[in-house]
Amino acid sequence: MIAARVSQIAPSRILDLLAAGEALKRQGVDLVDLGPGQPDFPVHPSIVSAVHTAMERGCTTYGPVAGLPELREALAKRYLRRYGAAYTAKNILVSAGAKGALYHLLGALVNPGDEVLLPLPYFASYPEQVKVWGGVPRYYQCSEEQGFRHSAEGLQGAIGPATKGIILNSPANPTGAVIPEGLLSETLAIASKHGLFVIMDECYDRFVYPPCRYATIPTIVKEPDERLFVVGSFSKTFSMMGFRVGYAAGGEGAISGAVRLQAHSVTHVPTFIQHGALEALEREDEIFQPIMDEFSRRREIMLEGLSGLPGTGVQRGEGAFYAFPGVLPAIERLGFASSEELAASLLDRARLLVIPGSAFGTEGHIRLSYAVPEEHLQEGLRRLVAFIR
Ligand code: PLP
Repeated sequence: MIAARVSQIAPSRILDLLAAGEALKRQGVDLVDLGPGQPDFPVHPSIVSAVHTAMERGCTTYGPVAGLPELREALAKRYLRRYGAAYTAKNILVSAGAKGALYHLLGALVNPGDEVLLPLPYFASYPEQVKVWGGVPRYYQCSEEQGFRHSAEGLQGAIGPATKGIILNSPANPTGAVIPEGLLSETLAIASKHGLFVIMDECYDRFVYPPCRYATIPTIVKEPDERLFVVGSFSKTFSMMGFRVGYAAGGEGAISGAVRLQAHSVTHVPTFIQHGALEALEREDEIFQPIMDEFSRRREIMLEGLSGLPGTGVQRGEGAFYAFPGVLPAIERLGFASSEELAASLLDRARLLVIPGSAFGTEGHIRLSYAVPEEHLQEGLRRLVAFIR
């Protein structure tokens, strides 16, 4: 009865693990959770009150599929302000989180059998979304020595006759790697030579730690291009995960294709929620700065704590809010077969939740989040070091 498509889609290992952690916490287990992929900050009160006001004003009806015109314009202006890029509302789709934006955008770009390149490690939803639309994910490894940044050679080597596009993620989940401007230019040139689409998932665009400088597609290409797209989110920057607002920006052809698909799926993001997103953009720097200050501090605690881990390597990820230490020697020494087994044992015996590298297609690593209160971070690092020692 169930369509074959479903059996080809892997369940979200991350969401399953996080749910298992929540269940343990409900049972009163003293669990330290370094799993979260969401900032532990409350939503700014001005965003909440903008949503309330919108509901009271009656913004509870159906609205435009692509998003409120004023929100699309505000997003276009954000790209003008930050990068001098000339997007207009027509280049923007507002969707249910970055996942919703990516889903509809891939639907507009990928034909059955098209290959989409994914640098490893990847964000777990990419391969599954590509498969939903009949595409074929193709992987190439990013080298740890290169700080997990993808390489031009890796990309060149992976391009084949069926390749249609590539999904990049910078700053990256799970590694924190940031693609520098030079490498991004080189990547865009290769993609252009082969006629590939490029989607840059920039959910963590604000989580970039100085002196690192962020570069994205509009840093380099100032006019909308039919093959180039960014996907962004309100979830991380504004701690608005549960609001489910994100967007895709780029070439008008595929964006309007994605709008056409969204018209027959979720229709649009709830109208009153979009008013909250508009308020967030209006106060972006004011809302984000305290989050950034706190995360910069925690990043140092994370890196300091991991330096005490024997036999592991950790790259200083320059963005996002994760560390992705290499734990292969520990896996082997402790007699585990995989990062999954190590993570299961950490949960069982040390009451510490981490995400195994296998969830991102990369063995021998675990993902640790510092989107948690400092005392949890300190205690989690203590448990990890004690367990591995
Ligand atoms: N892309 C990346 C790289 C992520 O890490 C996440 C969330 O963890 C998402 C997309 C999904 O974000 P949203 O909540 O906007 O759907």
